[in-house]
Amino acid sequence: MRKRLSEEDLKEGILSSDRVILSRAITLIESSLSADRLTGDHIINQILAYTGKSLRIGITGVPGVGKSTFIESFGLTLCDMGHKVAVLAVDPSSQKSGGSILGDKTRMERLSNHKNAFIRPSPTGQSLGGVANKTRETLLLCEAAGFDIILIETVGVGQSEVTVKGMVDFFLLLMLAGAGDELQGIKKGIMEMADAVVINKADGENIIASKQAKIEYENALHLFPPSGSGWYPRVLTCSAVKNEGLMNIWEIILEFRNKTKESGYFDHKRQQQNIDWMHESIKNSLLANFFEDGVINKKLKELTQKVIEGLMTPQSAANQLLDFSSKSAK
Ligand code: GDP
Repeated sequence: MRKRLSEEDLKEGILSSDRVILSRAITLIESSLSADRLTGDHIINQILAYTGKSLRIGITGVPGVGKSTFIESFGLTLCDMGHKVAVLAVDPSSQKSGGSILGDKTRMERLSNHKNAFIRPSPTGQSLGGVANKTRETLLLCEAAGFDIILIETVGVGQSEVTVKGMVDFFLLLMLAGAGDELQGIKKGIMEMADAVVINKADGENIIASKQAKIEYENALHLFPPSGSGWYPRVLTCSAVKNEGLMNIWEIILEFRNKTKESGYFDHKRQQQNIDWMHESIKNSLLANFFEDGVINKKLKELTQKVIEGLMTPQSAANQLLDFSSKSAK
């Protein structure tokens, strides 16, 4: 059996960038055992002063667009420049498939072997809210361990990119030339969230189509209202396989960081994200406490039956349940 590390060992290990200890601390955070969670909470609070210094980048796009290839090439470019890069993933579907499809080390083998990189797949067995919470905490641990760039991968088909947008500084949407937006399953709302749209696979026969797509996306983005940051989203092309266009993307991200730091937006957004995180945690705890309460559950079943039988409207059933719960709390 592995030796149980003390909180002090864990803290020291994280701060000295020991990957094995970092992984063990993340495992504590992801654990469903309350004793582990408690240790995890203590560790997070102890390392909080060492967090916040990284650049947090979200990367999304439909399956097959080239996310893992891109993250590997981009991550390696950054690692070779001397940056320390952590790759995390938010993939609530992994609870259904039983294994993670994102942030998988075997899909990024070269990057996972680089001394400056750390890859952690999405936590499993959780709702999106649960996955998000654990990813946020993992992000803080990685920052304390000295990772100065955090890439968070998610799949571009649903709610999870809204969640990732809420935990990063810069949001990058990967697209393909020649496939209509409909085909790519990308909703307008996701386009609107992007700080940069990057058309991947701009190589070989695809180069001309990619340049054309760049113009089309630029025109489309032009129609969106400017975001609160004052930043106009950029459209770029790249080839993750050929390692082309990656430095341009990095320069745009740095430009974004410099401009938003200067305007105060960067720090303001992080504060807002923390407030949202707190509110979300409160909501999640309230909901969990509510639905896990045996007495409330019994009453809920009773009222549900009345709604099914048409004896009560859903609204008055809800009102009655909430009244009942506030009375039973007194
Ligand atoms: P993901 O599902 O979004 O993570 O996509 P993958 O990274 O697994 O890539 C899907 C396929 O596209 C693989 O066969 C890759 O080799 C290929 N691919 C990824 N990036 C590029 C690129 O820049 N150019 C070309 N030609 N193929 C690419």
